[in-house]
Amino acid sequence: MKLLENKIALVTGASRGIGREIAKKFAEQGANIAFTYLSSVEKGQALEAELADYGVKAKGYRSDASDYTAAEQLITDVVSDFGTVDILVNNAGITRDTLLMRMSEEQWDEVLRVNLKSVFNLTKAATKPMMRAKQGSIINITSVVGLMGNAGQANYSASKAGIIGFTKSVAKELGSRNIRSNALAPGFIETEMTGELNEKALEDWLKNIPLKRAGQGEEVANACVFLGSDMSKYITGQVLQVDGGMLM
Ligand code: NAP
Repeated sequence: MKLLENKIALVTGASRGIGREIAKKFAEQGANIAFTYLSSVEKGQALEAELADYGVKAKGYRSDASDYTAAEQLITDVVSDFGTVDILVNNAGITRDTLLMRMSEEQWDEVLRVNLKSVFNLTKAATKPMMRAKQGSIINITSVVGLMGNAGQANYSASKAGIIGFTKSVAKELGSRNIRSNALAPGFIETEMTGELNEKALEDWLKNIPLKRAGQGEEVANACVFLGSDMSKYITGQVLQVDGGMLM
């Protein structure tokens, strides 16, 4: 028996990186997958076919997670296409890194809107079908920098710390409805997002990782399967770090 057999999962920002690996791993474990993309249209469309090869139902939606109305419409569409949402993975995220002195209001607002407001948008909308079904698992992708801060990422770290507070509040509000809410905090994972870092920054990160290597999207996806599945059904309000021991 696969761990997510017959579950219906929605993963935001699955056209690339970690979200793509989560969608694939979920499909491998038997889940039917709804997923979103925004600017990477071709990659999003290609993923739909790739996921269908696992023998599950898969559909991609072009939808901006930071847009409240679009998020409501997305959940309506997913419920109409799939019936409900059992697992929501709020993965969509961006960086606009720079030192605070140089950070514009726009860079602050954009990161907070895409990384944090999106989590509110999707969670609020998805909890309606979850409440009807009297069950659900919400997994919010935060980051170790949301726990420890990082120079040059005041906007990003604030958005990721905000996700943790939100996750715990939702766990308290909706636990009685059998809806779980957990955060997953990756450390340094090889994706296009971290590909933008220079050699020196890369070395500094690796120095502080006991496992002495960057993580892979697939390794984050494995932890996501655990949090989405009934294997974790007594776990809520937690932050699970997938960081090679970087932050203890
Ligand atoms: P990535 O490779 O840059 O991919 C980001 C994904 O988010 C893309 O699929 C992108 O879709 C989507 N996205 C961005 N804005 C969106 C929006 N407004 N609406 C819908 N989708 C949107 O990043 P990643 O490294 O995989 O990161 C995924 C998540 O993990 C993020 O939340 C990130 O903060 C977190 N994280 C990453 C690391 C790391 O080391 N990589 C560490 C800790 C946490 P389009 O391209 O289609 O627009």
